[in-house]
Amino acid sequence: MTATRQKVRKAIIFCLFLTFPVIMNYFSPALIAMGASEGVINGSLLLFGLLFVSALFLGRGFCGWVCPIGGLQEACFMVKDKRLTGKKIDWIKWVMWGPWIGLLVFLVIKAGGFRSIMPLYLMENGISVYEPTGYINFFLVLMVIVLLAFSVGRRTFCHTTCWIAPFMILGRKLRNIFRWPSLRLKSEKEKCTSCMKCTKSCPMSLDVNDMVQREKMENTECILCGTCIDVCPEDVISYSFSAWK
Ligand code: SF4
Ligand code: SF4
Repeated sequence: MTATRQKVRKAIIFCLFLTFPVIMNYFSPALIAMGASEGVINGSLLLFGLLFVSALFLGRGFCGWVCPIGGLQEACFMVKDKRLTGKKIDWIKWVMWGPWIGLLVFLVIKAGGFRSIMPLYLMENGISVYEPTGYINFFLVLMVIVLLAFSVGRRTFCHTTCWIAPFMILGRKLRNIFRWPSLRLKSEKEKCTSCMKCTKSCPMSLDVNDMVQREKMENTECILCGTCIDVCPEDVISYSFSAWK
């Protein structure tokens, strides 16, 4: 069952990656800015808002189970699987996200506020790459993601560049303040033999064993993929849908 769960998870994110030429624009921060400058709420802004709401109950489960960019990065593991050890790089995404949010606010104010909702803004029948030149952007985005995975390590794009992750992290933080029930990891420290399999296999390169030892399974970079649950020979870690104790 546990090996099957990871096969299913990977199949979902790999398949969604194959649809990326169609859905890419729903993940585009540039399109949100273009829409904002015309007072338009576009498809990606709607998606980002939905992901913020999902994070209130499911944390970053989207990143682990649905994200096509996550699928591409985990496909990179098959070629080169490099753990991010001892690198403090998570702050980088906030340095880019903050000015981007500031720009959006400026553009919306300049446009006189949002006046319309257009989920298919600048798309042809909802398809993102609908002409050959569109593949230039597509391959540039892919190149950055793959280069980061190969040169720095596992899911570096998620740690440093993803413009959606901050929405979900903020949703999760809000949930942690009010502590309503949500999907989370729980652990039984006394069963742990410190074999380190969880730490070695975490796609976000988190020190899961340390999280277990400190009895602190909450981590803003955890994507709730369940890999640590499924590799642990002692069944130390499990999912729980409950309030944070
Ligand atoms: S895989 Fe399980 S037993 Fe091994 S270190 Fe992680 S939690 Fe402990
Ligand atoms: S801590 Fe576990 S659930 Fe969270 S990202 Fe790492 S392997 Fe996935």
